[in-house]
Formats: sequence, C-alpha cells, structure tokens
Amino acid sequence: MLQKTVLTLVLALMVPIGTGAVSAEARQAEPNYNSATVGEIIQIKPDLYFVPGGGANAVIRVTPEGLILVDTKNPDPEIAAALIEQIRTVSTAPVRYVLNTHHHPDHVGNNQTFVDQGATVVGLEKMKELWSTDRRTGEIPGQPTETFETDYTLTFGGIEVEAHFYGGSHTDGDTVVYFPADGLVMVSDTTPYARPTPGINGTNAVLVPGLLDSVLALDFDSAIGGRGPLMTRAEIEAYAEKWDTLLGRARAAISGGATGETLMANVNQEDLGWTFNENFFGQLFAALQSE
Ligand SMILES: [Zn+2]
Repeated sequence: MLQKTVLTLVLALMVPIGTGAVSAEARQAEPNYNSATVGEIIQIKPDLYFVPGGGANAVIRVTPEGLILVDTKNPDPEIAAALIEQIRTVSTAPVRYVLNTHHHPDHVGNNQTFVDQGATVVGLEKMKELWSTDRRTGEIPGQPTETFETDYTLTFGGIEVEAHFYGGSHTDGDTVVYFPADGLVMVSDTTPYARPTPGINGTNAVLVPGLLDSVLALDFDSAIGGRGPLMTRAEIEAYAEKWDTLLGRARAAISGGATGETLMANVNQEDLGWTFNENFFGQLFAALQSE
C-alpha cells in the first residue's frame, strides 16, 4: 500500500506541467491550464477571476447583485460541481448571468446547472443556431433565452459587460466578451494559446484580421483565450501580425501563380509555428479568389 502511494506520488511529479510558450521558471509555478479537470480559481482584477481546466477557461465577474459567468466547461456534473466549488472560494452570491463565447461543448457544457440555480443565459443568435444543428451539442441543454444579433451590453450590478460578434473565425458564431471597467477582453478560441495552430478554417481565415482589428480597437491590457494563462495586449498584437504575414504570403503566392493545390507548398508557415494542412490552404485559396 505504501509502495503504491509512493509510486503514485512519483508519477504525479513526473507529469509535465503546461505546454505553452512560457519560460522554464514560469512553467514550474504555473497550473496545468489544459487539464481535463478543473483548476484553482485565479484572480485577474479585484472582482474578476478565471477558472482554468475542465475543457476551457471560465471567467467570473463578481458584482454586488450577483455573478456574471462566461463559459461553463465540458458537460459533466463533476466539472460543474468543481467549477462551483472554485467560484464559492471568492463569492457566495449566485450566478445571475451566463454568456458563452461559442457553442462548442467545452464552453457551454454546464449552462443548465446555472439555469437551474436561476441564471439567465445570454448569447448570439448564430451561436444558438449552431448549437442546435451541431450534432456534438444538439443534446446539451441550457441554450440562451436572451439572444442578440451582433452586439449586446449587459448592465448588471453596477458594471457593463459587452458581447460582440466581430465575424466568424473559430466558428461562424464567435462572441468576444469585453469587460471595459476591468480592461479585459475574452477572445476565447479565436486566439488559441494551448494549440500552436489556430483552430480556424481556411474560409474564415480571411476574416481573422478584421476580427482582431476590432478586438484591438477595444481598450484592454489583459486578454484571455479559451485555454491557457492570461495574455497581454502585445501578445494579441503579435498574433494579429502573424495572420497578416500568413495572408500576405498567400496573396503573393496566388499573384505568382499558385493554385489551390500548390498554395500550401508556396506559403512558408514554419517560422510562424503553424501547421495548417492542405484542406486549409484549399479553402484559403477559394476565399482569397473571391475577395
Ligand atoms: Zn471551440
């Protein structure tokens, strides 16, 4: 029994922590942002927190009238309970509003738990449509009951939270959530941290610079993706530059005669650290042709 305990401990110590581009020293101290299980709550600003793990980051804004929660992790009662447990360490107030950045299961999975506790779900109309039609999410309860077409401002508890559709990227219905008083923008999976190659298809790729321009027009100093630690404004700027570089190269290659079949071979993405596949470049070719 003792031996087994020691072995378990040794194995636990051997598990590498974090896969992101952080320094070795920082990595030692950082939580595992990509863990399947819910991590400990992390403070961003005085009344603003995020909980990593369990599929995706969840952001919590505490107000005197209750809590605003953005994204609810993978559908799983244990994950829901662990998220609530983390929230309870900073506030005993109920979650009054839930917003979702897009319809994927790791972002909407436990909405219903909060609805059952009295929360109202607010979401983009297009996201609700995708939620219903995507076979991965069709059966997940907790869809928004209050919807908006492109922009929404939630005024609650003395603060404002803005939700914006700046164009499709990771899905066709992504919402950027902005906390103006806190200087935080939640970019979710439009700006990946954990996966080196963005989860964006070639058709939507041409929309990304416009989305990021809109994000960068907001006044913020901190940003948070669907996974990973907080990012700085400079990191979002650097990400936008990478897209400009990739699309510039693709346009130049097409001007030079590249086709949908040869585009991938004619666009260097190695220095960007990306590994978009042939399918992506085929879609990108079509999208750039119709510009
Ligand atoms: Zn996603």
